[in-house]
Amino acid sequence: MNLLIMGPPGAGKGSQAVIIKERYNIPHISTGAMFREAIKAKTKTGLLAKEYIDKGELVPDSVTIELVRERLQADDTKNGFLLDGFPRTIAQAQALDQILSEVGKKIDKVINLVVDEEILVIRISGRRVCKTCGETYHIVNKKPKVEEICDVCGGELIQRADDNVATVTNRIKVYYEKTRPLLNYYDDKGILINIDGSGEIEETFRYVEKIMEDANDLT
Ligand code: ADP
Ligand code: ZN
Repeated sequence: MNLLIMGPPGAGKGSQAVIIKERYNIPHISTGAMFREAIKAKTKTGLLAKEYIDKGELVPDSVTIELVRERLQADDTKNGFLLDGFPRTIAQAQALDQILSEVGKKIDKVINLVVDEEILVIRISGRRVCKTCGETYHIVNKKPKVEEICDVCGGELIQRADDNVATVTNRIKVYYEKTRPLLNYYDDKGILINIDGSGEIEETFRYVEKIMEDANDLT
């Protein structure tokens, strides 16, 4: 199954993606995570991406599309994949269709997490990530056992550079302007599924599971 997970920043795409990946055994492809890795490794793409990410702007389509094109060539995408954070513009969505059609594939389902704007800012500003393994936490909703220390690996918990209020506000604005119109694009194809993402991670995942079961009934 080739899946997309969509929703505004803070909707919980990453949290769901981690569970979906485990449960359905498909690779989780997050352009945000790929950019963060490139920044850490100080590659050319990383240095360029950083300038946009720090401001809450989108990295240019040409760069992002090439990154995804390459990633989708990897062998582990043969039996399906979950794209998270891509596409974010109509041009990216069209490019994705093109990339997939060249290899006789298509997107089967688009899971859209619906969450009110007030909740988004609270979620993102309280988010912490492990500097070492990338595990995410929340200062209210998902506290680590020991303050500022990762439960998984003992690493230090930090705030993502683009999770400050000013950048978050811009990311949400950019989402409404550039990414939200994609929902119509996929709705017109009849593959968009909206689910409530305002509850707990497990609760949202139960809706995701339901969708996957319904999809299997059809095949
Ligand atoms: P979130 O969904 O919480 O905003 P991501 O980790 O998906 O976070 O993305 C972080 C940042 O990386 C974005 O704000 C943007 O600058 C950049 N980025 C990620 N994916 C894309 C994309 N498909 N196109 C352009 N920029 C992207
Ligand atoms: Zn860790």
